Amino acid sequence: MTLQFDPQDELVCIGSHRPLADGGSVLPPIAQASLFRQPDMETLFDGLSREHQVAVYSRGTNPTLSVLEDALARLERGEACKGFASGMGAIAASLTAFLESGDHVLFAGTIYGPTIELAQRLEGYGVSWSRAEATDLDGIAAQLRPETRVLYMESPGSMLFGLLPVADLATMARDRGIITMLDNSVATPLLQKPLELGVDLVLHSCSKYIGGHSDLVGGAVVGSVEHIERIFRKGLLLLGAAMPPLTAWLCLRGLMTLPVRLAKHHADALSLASWLAEHPRVRRVFHPALTNDPLLARQMRGHSGLFSFELDDGFADAIVVADRLRTFGRAVSWGGPESLVMTGHKVDPAEAAPALPASLLRLSVGLEGVATLQEDLGRALG
Ligand SMILES: *Cc1c(COP(=O)(O)O)cnc(C)c1O
Repeated sequence: MTLQFDPQDELVCIGSHRPLADGGSVLPPIAQASLFRQPDMETLFDGLSREHQVAVYSRGTNPTLSVLEDALARLERGEACKGFASGMGAIAASLTAFLESGDHVLFAGTIYGPTIELAQRLEGYGVSWSRAEATDLDGIAAQLRPETRVLYMESPGSMLFGLLPVADLATMARDRGIITMLDNSVATPLLQKPLELGVDLVLHSCSKYIGGHSDLVGGAVVGSVEHIERIFRKGLLLLGAAMPPLTAWLCLRGLMTLPVRLAKHHADALSLASWLAEHPRVRRVFHPALTNDPLLARQMRGHSGLFSFELDDGFADAIVVADRLRTFGRAVSWGGPESLVMTGHKVDPAEAAPALPASLLRLSVGLEGVATLQEDLGRALG
C-alpha cells in the first residue's frame, strides 16, 4: 500500500501557511513567559473571561502553544485544540471534564494501560467504567448502559493494532447522546482523521510521532469549540497540566518532518512485518495491513511504524530475543528516529491474567533503514 497524504496536511506540517513571526522566522519565537501584561484593567478582565483565547497566564494560553494548537486543529479538521503537558494530561482533563459521579465510561479497543488506571482512580469519585471485549458495532453497543456518558476508543491500539468501526460507533453514540473520544496517537492526524469519521474528541500523545525525536513529553485534544472550552475550564485550568512553550516549539519542529518520517516508518515497518510473518519462529504478526482488515482502507491512509509479533514460544523466549537486539533499543514509548522494542508483559504473564500473548514483542520501527533492522531481528531470532 503506497502512502499518500492530503497535500493540505503537508503544507500545515511544513508551516508555510503560518503567519510568519518577526523577520520571516520560519518558527515562532518561544514565548518563555508565565504572564502577559495588559494595557489596562478592562483589557485584563476581558482576557481573564476569554482565557482560552487570550494569553494572560501560561497555565491557560501561551502564544507559542497557540501556534501548535492551530496546526493540530487544522490537521485534525477540528474547530479547536488544547495542548497539555503530556498525553495523560490531555486524557485525564478530557475524561474528568465530561464524567460526573454516577456516569459510566465504556472503553473499546486495546486501551493504553495508564488510561485504565485513571478510570480505576475515578471509581473513587463515583464514576464507573467497563471494557468492551467485542470490537464490532453491535457487540460494543450491547455494552452501553443508560448512564454511559463517554465511549472511549483506541483504533488502532498500541499493542495489537486492532481497528474499530469508528464511523459506525460514532453515529451510534451520537444518536444516544454519548460523547466519543479516540486516542489517535498511533495513526497521527496524517493517517486518520477521527473527527471526519464523526468522533467528538481526538486525543494525542505528542511525545510519540508528533514530537518525533524522543525529546519531549506532551499531549493534545482536538474537537469543537464548545467541547474544548469545557475541557479548558474544567480540565486544564484546574488540573493544571499545561504544555510548556518550549515543548510546543519542539512539536512544531517535529511536525515539519512528520510527513517524511511517517512515509519511511510506514514503508519500513510494512516490509519488516511482511518478512517476520514468513519467519519460522514467528506465530503471528499484528499489523493492520497484514491482517487485511477492510477497515484500514475505509478509515486510514496507511499504518505507521508501530507493530507487534508473537513468537512460537513463551515469555522467557521473548525476553531473550529482546535482549539480543542491538539496533532496536529496549525502552518504553515509541515514535522517534531510533528503533525500539518492548515486550507485551513486564512480569511472566503466567503470574497475571494474560490480556496479551505471552511472547509478544512490540517494535517501533525507526529511521535506521530496513537492511540494518532486518539483520538485527534475524540475528536476535537466531
Ligand atoms: C504514550 C501514550 C499515551 C500517554 O501519553 P504521554 O505523553 O506518555 O502521557 C496515551 N496513549 C497512547 C496510545 C500512548 O502510547
